[in-house]
Amino acid sequence: MTEAKIIDGKAFAADVRGRVKSAVDVLKADHGITPGLAVVLVGEDPASQVYVRNKGKQTLEAGMNSYEFKMPDTVSQEELLAKVAELNEDPAVNGILVQLPLPDHMDDQAVITAIDPDKDVDGFHLVNVGRLSVGATDGLIPCTPLGCLLMLKDHFGGSLSGKRAIVVGRSNIVGKPMFNLLLQESCTVTVAHSRTDDLPGECRRADIVVAAVGRPEMVKGDWIKPGAVVIDVGINRIEKPDGGTRLVGDVEFESAKSVAGAITPVPGGVGPMTIACLLRNTVTACCQQNDIPEPP
Ligand code: NDP
Repeated sequence: MTEAKIIDGKAFAADVRGRVKSAVDVLKADHGITPGLAVVLVGEDPASQVYVRNKGKQTLEAGMNSYEFKMPDTVSQEELLAKVAELNEDPAVNGILVQLPLPDHMDDQAVITAIDPDKDVDGFHLVNVGRLSVGATDGLIPCTPLGCLLMLKDHFGGSLSGKRAIVVGRSNIVGKPMFNLLLQESCTVTVAHSRTDDLPGECRRADIVVAAVGRPEMVKGDWIKPGAVVIDVGINRIEKPDGGTRLVGDVEFESAKSVAGAITPVPGGVGPMTIACLLRNTVTACCQQNDIPEPP
């Protein structure tokens, strides 16, 4: 039995970041513009702090300006909204990201809604959700599903037309936008969730399986159609027998890789693509705001 091709998300993300850097160089040289990304972090959540630090570092490495705003978790929603309003008005800021989840006393949706949709590089504003659902070309697309799509298109040499796809998970940040993106690529898409009947059978019919569930190794190898492409979005930390921990995806990698045609590992698959696509979205937003065609 042949083993699946392992889709190297780290290398793919490095390639996307390289393209972003080239585009930034063009914007600087030809238009005198340096794209800027502002990230707002409320509170002390350790995972969010690491994530925000990585975003800032990679933004600078791509030649862009990075603006970080840390607020204590005692900050009021009004103060956060005032910061967002200030960033909306700042011409040096092309992209705004408020790190989620916010503390309990805040309303995530109200804060997302306050971001200028043209600067909403996370793609979560209802205007961008709407743009994506009607297939508008000027929307900003959520970073993780965009990363999955780029890897899939690369694997299939550009066209996904006619492929049967299943997205397991229907969250607003991964499952639903992934559904819309695959539909736009003319896939025939099933969206599965916790109430789906016969999930293994649904998966077995798919040429493309995108797993975004948050349940360690739930999707088994015998759920996969031979030769299918498996994109594992899940990031789950589990205990090892020796008491340590390790990261696994939503797919049982060992059994799936002996059936699939290609598969993303965890870690090193979808994960690195998310920040790369955030940088890409910042360049897209900058070009749209300045009415400049996006450098190739
Ligand atoms: P959510 O918890 O928001 O959504 C999970 C979805 O999975 C829900 O739609 C839920 O169904 C469905 N689900 C739960 N249990 C089952 C089951 N037994 N069978 C079928 N469907 C089920 O998760 P997210 O979308 O935010 O994240 C999913 C995973 O992706 C997580 O592991 C997360 O860490 C990871 N992630 C990774 C990112 C990256 O950068 N690589 C970025 C974002 C997320 P229902 O709606 O019915 O409850």
